[in-house]
Amino acid sequence: MDKRVFTEKFTGRLPKDIKSATPQQLHNALGDTIMEMYSERWNNSRQKHLSGRRAAYLSMEFLVGRAVYDNLVCLGIYHEVDEVFRQLGVSLADLEVIEDAALGNGGLGRLAACFLDSAATLGLPLDGYGIRYKYGLFRQSIVDGFQKEDIDDWTRYGDPWSKRCDEDTVLVEYNGQTVKAVPYDMPVFGCKTDNVGTLRLWQAEPVKEFDFDIFNQQNYLEASKEKIFAEDISRVLYPNDDTNEGKKLRLKQQYFFSCASLTDIIRKHKAVFGGLDDLAEHITIQLNDTHPVISIPELIRQLVDNEGWSFDKALDTAKKVFNYTNHTVMQEALEKWDCSLVDELLPRIYSIIIQISETLIADMYASGVPKEKTDRIRIIKDGRIHMADMACYASSHINGVAEIHTQILKDTVLADWFSLYPERFRNETNGITQRRWLALCNPRLAEQITELLEGDGWMTDLSRLKELEKYADDKEVLSRFVREKNYNKTLLTHYIYNKEGIDLSPDLIFDIQIKRLHEYKRQLLNAFSILWIYYGIKDGSIKNFRPTAFIFGAKSAPGYRRAKAIIKYINEVGRVVSSDPDTRDLIKVVFVQNYNVSYAEKLVAAADISEQISTAGTEASGTGNMKLMLNGAVTLGTYDGANIEIVQEAGEENNYIFGARVEELKEIVPEYDSRSVFAGNSMIRRVVSSLIDGTVSDGGSGDFRELYTALLDGASWHEPDHYYLLGDMRSYVEAKLKAISDYSNDRAAFARKQWLNMCNAGKFSSDRTIADYAENIWKL
Ligand SMILES: *Cc1c(COP(=O)(O)O)cnc(C)c1O
Repeated sequence: MDKRVFTEKFTGRLPKDIKSATPQQLHNALGDTIMEMYSERWNNSRQKHLSGRRAAYLSMEFLVGRAVYDNLVCLGIYHEVDEVFRQLGVSLADLEVIEDAALGNGGLGRLAACFLDSAATLGLPLDGYGIRYKYGLFRQSIVDGFQKEDIDDWTRYGDPWSKRCDEDTVLVEYNGQTVKAVPYDMPVFGCKTDNVGTLRLWQAEPVKEFDFDIFNQQNYLEASKEKIFAEDISRVLYPNDDTNEGKKLRLKQQYFFSCASLTDIIRKHKAVFGGLDDLAEHITIQLNDTHPVISIPELIRQLVDNEGWSFDKALDTAKKVFNYTNHTVMQEALEKWDCSLVDELLPRIYSIIIQISETLIADMYASGVPKEKTDRIRIIKDGRIHMADMACYASSHINGVAEIHTQILKDTVLADWFSLYPERFRNETNGITQRRWLALCNPRLAEQITELLEGDGWMTDLSRLKELEKYADDKEVLSRFVREKNYNKTLLTHYIYNKEGIDLSPDLIFDIQIKRLHEYKRQLLNAFSILWIYYGIKDGSIKNFRPTAFIFGAKSAPGYRRAKAIIKYINEVGRVVSSDPDTRDLIKVVFVQNYNVSYAEKLVAAADISEQISTAGTEASGTGNMKLMLNGAVTLGTYDGANIEIVQEAGEENNYIFGARVEELKEIVPEYDSRSVFAGNSMIRRVVSSLIDGTVSDGGSGDFRELYTALLDGASWHEPDHYYLLGDMRSYVEAKLKAISDYSNDRAAFARKQWLNMCNAGKFSSDRTIADYAENIWKL
């Protein structure tokens, strides 16, 4: 970067008195400057992507977080820009107030963002397509222990990292409504390469802004109706994680970005290659979960209705073009749409889905598949369209996101499909980008690694970290490693003090659980364990307890009552231990507000212990576990998702694994009786009873009693303690106490474990994941 040119362009966009500029003004000026300076590089990459075979990543969510620092890191100009800021008497740190683009709920959306980053860095022609929500994931505050939601107006002060492209606008048609899809493009800067990817986000707008005739008839509201109804489509991100919200507006959103993206892909293809006959040779599309699966009939529709293709030829092309990633084994998350709804909203799409479904049945009949299996495998069952089944039928590759998850798909969720098309199945264990999740969020550790490796090659090749294993017994190296960790812990304590008003000491052990709030993730089990420790300290059965901060960050879906009750319960447990003088200095419970990507960056850098405690077989992969490992936290976790591979890489002896495994649960569950576990252990009885014995208060809602009932009697669709909290509680508390006392008894030995986790995190770079997708699925 030419620093002089940068400074000139940057200051030219600021008021004369630069020190008086607001952070938002600084941010906009910086963003505009970078966008201008790198626009040619971006254009060149766009042209290059279009000229050969390319991949498109269709995702309803991209949890990109704050763009500014990451862009500077990836462009390799962070320090230069930092210097310019300082010379001008301002600070890059001022941009900490810039809001995240939270256009996703959690892991699935964050994965999409990491993938774009990795593909850009690997020089691969991958571009993302999604929705430009006006309001991203709600902003959370905690009031009196309860979650409160507010809208997230993330573009309020502008959005300098997006470029509106009116010339690529698409019309999207529903039955009785036509809207414009206007693309906003965000650059995705590769690291140490000139390649720049594009994230194209579609915004819904009316074809006609305002009806003057109706306005003149004094019907003011009616005159703006079209605008309101159009803008509704991209107004807000559904705040559900791992559950299916079967709502008409959500279906409209899915069709909106699928239709717009495919129209765009086909237009560009025609412009470059003339006809469409070779479409499948030049484009491959990854469907991120079932949300964009409506793209399959939409592609067929466009090829048949607009291009005059036969249905069979169009279906054949769809099968070649699409690939499907499954993200969950939970039935409540697998999308199924009522036929009547799809027919009402998208009648032509519905007729194509019926054709796909009938072709599948004919295919199976022709290849002699037995009738009872044919009946099971249908795309349309009980008046509903099963999107995962449609994706399995009309795609080339189907993948799970960690070894255990892919195995579970083959054995259970998608077993019929696996028996039909075993060659389509692959595993692609998730990953995270080390640019954001080490270089950006933990510059001190990054610097140490760079010094030891005599270069920052790890930024584009994370397997290099393995070379650092040889320092595991080097006192000097490890004491610096601990110093940097303590520095990060100190930074986090300041941040938490400012944001939450809670005073923590960096001398505490930082035990951290950060992820969406969900029963299967078992934050309630964590809260129970804290109460267990509290009672243990009180009754003397736990001695010499090393002071520990138990830090939670989690949003609950606003309509998920039990999850919200768990947030309140965690805060109530915090109140109990902090109001007792015997424990207030030993146990700190912090529930941070508005956990998001930017908060995650601070938390992972400061963590000692990473809580990954989902019931075995429920967490498809997890990626938070990888971020924490990379930053030198040990995993306190179950044999689930990518935890299994983490432990394979870093050694079971360097982590704290507990609880029933999937195979064990298979045996246990049919006989499992949570009541007898409850009756058989006085501490379990005591902590679980806290829900109803007056120890804590749910504010009179009855929600804690409902949690209690769900654990001991079962409730609605659950058998008692569906997620096996009571069954795993003893081994969990044991493992947790072991981790804490190991830290306390021998900090150096514990630091060695932490170091070895960092050294063995190379596999979990999304660069590895994306290189594998590119080679084996996309064939780029
Ligand atoms: C990584 C990440 C997640 C996913 O965390 P898991 O522990 O894998 O569920 C969710 N939210 C944010 C903000 C993240 O950065």
